[in-house]
Amino acid sequence: MTTVRFLNGLTTIGGNIMEITTATSRVIMDFGMADNGSAADPEILIAEHRLPALKSLFTNPTDHRYQHEAIFISHLHLDHTAALQYLKSDIPVYLSHDSYRLYQSLAASGLAIPLGVNLHAFEYEHHIQIGDLTVTGYASDHDAFGATAFLISDGQHHFGHSGDVRLHGPHVERVQHWMNVFRSLHLDLFMLEATSFSFEPSDNIEFSVPASEDDIQQSFSQLLQTDDRLQVINPYPRNLERLLRFNQTANAYNRPVVWELPYARLLNSFYPEALIHVLASNRLNKQDLASLIPVGLPIIKHEPQRFSLQNSYANLALLTEVKPFMYLHSNGEPLGEYDPRYASLMNFITDNDGELRHLGSSGHATRQALVAIAKTVNAQTTGIWHTFQPETAEKAMQDLDTNILLPAYDATYTF
Ligand SMILES: [Zn+2]
Repeated sequence: MTTVRFLNGLTTIGGNIMEITTATSRVIMDFGMADNGSAADPEILIAEHRLPALKSLFTNPTDHRYQHEAIFISHLHLDHTAALQYLKSDIPVYLSHDSYRLYQSLAASGLAIPLGVNLHAFEYEHHIQIGDLTVTGYASDHDAFGATAFLISDGQHHFGHSGDVRLHGPHVERVQHWMNVFRSLHLDLFMLEATSFSFEPSDNIEFSVPASEDDIQQSFSQLLQTDDRLQVINPYPRNLERLLRFNQTANAYNRPVVWELPYARLLNSFYPEALIHVLASNRLNKQDLASLIPVGLPIIKHEPQRFSLQNSYANLALLTEVKPFMYLHSNGEPLGEYDPRYASLMNFITDNDGELRHLGSSGHATRQALVAIAKTVNAQTTGIWHTFQPETAEKAMQDLDTNILLPAYDATYTF
């Protein structure tokens, strides 16, 4: 008998964690938090439903209730990984080879905190045996490098996990591939993220008319050609491919992006052949000087039409030196109004002669695309989570040939 339990994230965006167990084996899918957490006691965080109720994993390094067990991470966004910082157990934590490399580079560049956990990388479509459970990761498309969808099997039953996914990104063929594999197995249960059902389409343009990664670069190239003000970009470093594309577009129009040092190092470690400019400072070491092109702030200030500048929120004050500027918000932090820093960012831009433009692309499929995914996968049961509005998603999918499950925390589902 195989059982499924849901440990968190049924009505939040992120923090969604499920556990699949047999008598001897357990896999836990994702290990995030819906908020970024703070250095509080894990027991309090469990009581507040911010950490999953897996107390021994947070308190006991070697208490193994299962002979075979592992945690699998679908991608490196904090809402899927933040609980790892509280992990005390030496339970293996698996992530895709791409995510693993990204994590190593982020940590080495100072863009992620090093985690003292037992990390393992897997190759896409290689089966990983955790006792009598088999887990297979499939490359997917989300706005995080290395994003994965999972298939979990006990030999008789098959469970799918969409991870976070979109159909308007550059790798839609990957999604098509895993959807076809899942479909052919007529899954017992397919867990689908339903972020876009959280918002009224008219309220949030990002979720109704999805801009693609291509659209971002098209708008950016237009600005590079027509606007002489300094073009400031604020992307999210875990969307590594977008960083590279910004770098390429800006180089093509002879207005190279001057990156902050951690971003420049990150890009260089993945794409050593790329021409990467970095903001000059005394923090550049010998290796940086050999692989990056330093540009000083005075020259950027003097000739803004020759450059673009990547700026993260922590270094916002630097923009007082380069006004007027165009501020291109590209899904970097602070991400939106729910973050109190967002209002400060908006005020800062207005007060400093900046003009704000949103140049983002969502990592999440639209409502229609989510219905299409559920329809294509055609599982026996489709479970909805990773959304504020599971009932709205259920309604939109009621005519499909799949049972819709809105999971409950205190239930155990047996197969
Ligand atoms: Zn997520």
